[in-house]
Amino acid sequence: MIALAIELGGTHSVAGIVQGERVIAKETVPSTGSDRLGPTLEQFASVLRKLAAKHQVAFRDCAGVSIAFCGLVDTKRARVLSTNLKYEDAPEIDLAGWARDTFGLHLRLENDARLALLGERFAGAARGFDDVVMMTIGTGIGGAAMMEGRLLRGKHFQAGCLGGHLPMNPRGRLCSCGAAGCAESEASTFALPGLLQSFPGFEQSVLAKATPLDYRTVFEAADAGDDLAQRVVAYSIDVWSALLVGLIHAYDPEVIVVGGGVMKRAARILPALEARAATAWTPWGRVQIQLAQCGSDAALLGAVPLLEEQL
Ligand SMILES: [Zn+2]
Repeated sequence: MIALAIELGGTHSVAGIVQGERVIAKETVPSTGSDRLGPTLEQFASVLRKLAAKHQVAFRDCAGVSIAFCGLVDTKRARVLSTNLKYEDAPEIDLAGWARDTFGLHLRLENDARLALLGERFAGAARGFDDVVMMTIGTGIGGAAMMEGRLLRGKHFQAGCLGGHLPMNPRGRLCSCGAAGCAESEASTFALPGLLQSFPGFEQSVLAKATPLDYRTVFEAADAGDDLAQRVVAYSIDVWSALLVGLIHAYDPEVIVVGGGVMKRAARILPALEARAATAWTPWGRVQIQLAQCGSDAALLGAVPLLEEQL
């Protein structure tokens, strides 16, 4: 199968062409300076036309267009339901009509974490598994669940994909979703500046003057012996580990695939996640914790199983 694939992410957007288990071409689509989707659609179309011409792919030979969206979507009607500080105009846009008029192709829309799960199951760390949880730790914390070979969506299309908004600290920081103490507001790149400042000793830390304040900087400061950075790393890993156990208890997976930019530090994080997963109540055996293999291609690769899926 050949598919056109678009990822509308929280921090970057990509358009690509997937053939079989490979992304044969992709290109980052720069922001127009606006956070609105409507004015950007023609740029996606023009990138896909260019990539298709370069790789001699005819749109009529493609199975469809897949869009991964960083928010809640109605999978059946292919409409965005709710956004999170990005592409606020998306719920008003008829994306299926756009794909039909622009490429002559059918469109499927899905949440980005669910598409990443499909991609990892199709071509990465969850091959051969029917019961899978995906957890991505980066700007935010993404989640998705598959049970008995079917993506978990639920009546309102929000089942399984709000893992980052499971409460970890009932008196924690206010989250962008409106709740308090979500995993995402306790330990994600998005939450990091507030998290660091809430720790005693921030002013004495090298991080008080560091830019950008991301996990790469924090892990490097921790490696260099900065006390505050070490405490923040330990706290963050605690949050991710607790979330992991929550996801195991919620969705009964055989494997949890962990990805996202923060997992560049997998050597430090993964053993802690595995140790905590071993404490979960799973009398049948041990849940496997796997590092994501598809990297930034996961949500694009998910296009193939998504377009093959019978709704
Ligand atoms: Zn939240």
